[in-house]
Amino acid sequence: MADQSPLGKEASAYITRGDLVPDGVIVKLVAERLKEQDCEPGFILDGFPRTIPQAQSLEGILQTMELGLQSVLLVQVPTRIIIERLAGRRTCKNCGALFHLNLNPSTREGICDRCGGELQQRDDDREETVSARLKVYENQTAPLIDYYRQRGILREIDGVGSVAEIGKRLIKALEEPAT
Ligand SMILES: [Zn+2]
Repeated sequence: MADQSPLGKEASAYITRGDLVPDGVIVKLVAERLKEQDCEPGFILDGFPRTIPQAQSLEGILQTMELGLQSVLLVQVPTRIIIERLAGRRTCKNCGALFHLNLNPSTREGICDRCGGELQQRDDDREETVSARLKVYENQTAPLIDYYRQRGILREIDGVGSVAEIGKRLIKALEEPAT
């Protein structure tokens, strides 16, 4: 979107209206991005695919590129903790840096440590919106767990702990064969 590419403009039209970007547009964006040179040694997709149709499209993209997915990581966190994490999250209006009221507070309340900008709560991190997002996850994204388990590439990780601990678990899971 920052480059004002035709596809980026298409996506930003949905976002400025507050709509979700449709699967067809997201899939095209991913396909273009994966063709860039820095993806050649491998890549990590974060937050995509989120639905079964997206996963099927991704399979199609990768097939035409003669690539396959090596692993799918499922980071498991109890609902109570997800709500706590998202409700306490604060984002810098200016540079986008992330903080958390309890887990990663800024030095001065409401002020970004990195650039001095104002911290705000994103609309979709408010507690009432978070429970709606969790329902969307249950309905649309959770079915991907079985989808990838059946393909033998799902790896499950305990997502409760410090960033460093969870990071270690992720790397260990990638080094072990999938279950
Ligand atoms: Zn900032």
